[in-house]
Amino acid sequence: MQILDGKLVSAAIKAELAEQVAQLKAEGKKTPHLAAILVGNNGASETYVASKVKSCAEIGFNSTLLRFDEHISEKHLLDHITSLNENADIDGILVQLPLPKHINEELVINNIDPSKDVDGFHPMNVGKMVSGLPTFIPATPYGIMLMLEHYNIETKGKHAVVIGRSHIVGTPMSILLSRNSNPGNCTVTLTHSQTKNLKELCLQADIIVAAIGKPGFVTADMVKEGAVIIDVGINRIADETKKSGFRLVGDVKFDEVAPKSSYITPVPGGVGLMTIAALLKNTYHAAIGQKGGMN
Ligand code: NAD
Repeated sequence: MQILDGKLVSAAIKAELAEQVAQLKAEGKKTPHLAAILVGNNGASETYVASKVKSCAEIGFNSTLLRFDEHISEKHLLDHITSLNENADIDGILVQLPLPKHINEELVINNIDPSKDVDGFHPMNVGKMVSGLPTFIPATPYGIMLMLEHYNIETKGKHAVVIGRSHIVGTPMSILLSRNSNPGNCTVTLTHSQTKNLKELCLQADIIVAAIGKPGFVTADMVKEGAVIIDVGINRIADETKKSGFRLVGDVKFDEVAPKSSYITPVPGGVGLMTIAALLKNTYHAAIGQKGGMN
């Protein structure tokens, strides 16, 4: 069993981006600039946005964090997005999800200029991804593809079972893994809450991508010997021994699944860090006017 080390791989990607940014600056070109929008005080969202902003600074990107009260009106938020769309200094816009219930997420995403949509959620970019055209790939699946690529994991002809069909993880992951590319060329089964025989399907999987949002959902009896396990879940569970009062666990029962796997991502230290690295790559590509890192 080998750990797929998100810390190591994301550090390598960030180091490469830092060099590329230094090069842009040396040539008198524009510094990539990411604008992040955070609405309300969701603890997990605050942590994610803070890491994204900090990572920008580490590699020499500019970033702007726009924080809004949870009661901000939809109209006011849309006005801010319009002004970011029109601001030539901003290359990438990310709106940290989820948004409060009174705001229509779809409307907000649809209002982001597709050429600044570094999360890859705009329907135009989703359509391009499905068509295999150059575009921004949603950061979490993109980060997973970069991880598979880094470790040179054979995916061709493998059976991948993706658990979860969200627009941000499961669905784009299933599309990317089934593409005629490397990594890719998998036979993909996309499973979800209505799937009847999940355990049987998982037992046939050479690769499992777990994106469910339920701590320890994937157990050893669901996993074939030698499978590659990608754990996307980030779940907070109470832990009085921690200062924060919680610890993070994935959707996979790591201790019992790891010994059966060939490769496995830890939580934390796996996919979460790759998501940030992929977002930075998308932002770099937005800044240089070249969409998409892997096509
Ligand atoms: P979501 O709630 O939008 O989707 C969960 C999916 O799980 C749904 O499609 C649902 O059909 C499926 N599901 C629920 N119960 C199931 C069951 N019993 N059997 C099979 N499928 C079932 O979640 P999401 O936004 O895709 O996130 C999933 C997890 O990944 C969460 O823990 C989230 O915090 C985490 N996440 C991590 C990153 C990262 O950077 N590592 C990024 C995004 C999300």
